Amino acid sequence: MALRNVLKVENDNESLRIKCRDIKVIDDKIRTLAADMLETMYAQNGVGLAAPQVGVLKKLIVIDIGEGPVTLINPIIVYQKGEQEEIEGCLSVPGVWGTVKRPQRVIARGENLDGEVIEVEGEGLMAIALCHEIDHLSGTLYTDKVIRYIDPSEMEDRRK
Ligand code: ZN
Repeated sequence: MALRNVLKVENDNESLRIKCRDIKVIDDKIRTLAADMLETMYAQNGVGLAAPQVGVLKKLIVIDIGEGPVTLINPIIVYQKGEQEEIEGCLSVPGVWGTVKRPQRVIARGENLDGEVIEVEGEGLMAIALCHEIDHLSGTLYTDKVIRYIDPSEMEDRRK
């Protein structure tokens, strides 16, 4: 496994704005990519990472909100319910936080690394993470949806 470079919007990175391609074959390259993405996410204390953030324009996301790693290939949201407005940040938009409206509960469908179709249900933070990462696959950043930006000093106060 290896750490990957996380692309930042401040470098005007086009890769973050392009619609990603479906993954048709799950080979060692994809498995290595998923492992590298998790390692990179953990190293930066993130809760999610999408392949375009490491410059790979393919539909792959990894998430860990503290309940173990989730890897989803070609994910889509198939169910959503309710609403929540919480603060989000993004490893590709460092030093910026803002509130976004998301569903309270979602179900995402995709494939795991064995090519099996799986559904992942998320509530609260997990629902946010699924929506945020799946958005990346169509070139959408959470900053496109921000309702209110949070002052960094306000974020310091929130940190435990
Ligand atoms: Zn992000």
